[in-house]
Amino acid sequence: MLEITNIHKSFGENEILKGVDLKIEKGDVVVILGPSGSGKTTLLRCINFLEKADQGHAIFGDIDVNLKTASKKAIHGIRQKIAFVFQNYNLFNNKTALENVTEGLVIGRKIAKAEANEIGKKALDKVGLSEKYNAYPIELSGGQQQRVGIARAVALNPDIILFDEPTSALDPELVGEVLTVMKQIAKEGTTMLVVTHEMSFAKDVANRVIFMDAGVVVEEGSPKDIFVKPKEERTRKFLKRVL
Ligand code: ATP
Repeated sequence: MLEITNIHKSFGENEILKGVDLKIEKGDVVVILGPSGSGKTTLLRCINFLEKADQGHAIFGDIDVNLKTASKKAIHGIRQKIAFVFQNYNLFNNKTALENVTEGLVIGRKIAKAEANEIGKKALDKVGLSEKYNAYPIELSGGQQQRVGIARAVALNPDIILFDEPTSALDPELVGEVLTVMKQIAKEGTTMLVVTHEMSFAKDVANRVIFMDAGVVVEEGSPKDIFVKPKEERTRKFLKRVL
């Protein structure tokens, strides 16, 4: 469904991605693990063109593009297929939860407001926020705000949702409610690519785990392959530190 080859990305002299390949099939829940600074977020951002890769190729359904030279049309086409959940939620503070969810439907997808409201309410119901349609972000906890972020992604009915450390800005007691929602949408068959430090999510929910270090994929496999019998010393060292 999504195949990325040989992504390179530098910031100045700093080469952050050094030729990463990634293949995701429909229904996959892929978790990317790795030490801080290994390039996980940068990889997600390059896939969605929030950063422009220096090199690399993507095949996404019927779209086949060079990531460096992609046309506006191809970028638009790929963005229509992808939704992104940000670490810091990225909600509009002057809009209600429902307006945050419907904004992309009305502006980006040109869906009529009444229909967008119906879709948006269903998405908020799914993440347990039926009582909060009209609440502003400031009136919501961090966990609730992130659930609005997830509802916004779900409402777009994308081919894949990219999650960039969705729980790392949250107080520990709020992490669980967000992971529960993510588990639920994974169970429903949503294709997900998740950067996270939550090992329990990787173990229990992912069907594939990728371990990145210093801009390369060191190892990938099932959660069992990675957590029980990692092949690479770098993977073992990382897991020893975090488990
Ligand atoms: P973490 O788990 O800490 O979020 P990560 O694996 O997601 O780490 P990235 O956020 O991709 O790592 O960052 C990789 C490196 O790229 C870091 O050293 C970071 O400082 C650098 N970097 C990321 N974005 C930029 C930018 N826009 N300009 C300059 N350097 C950047």
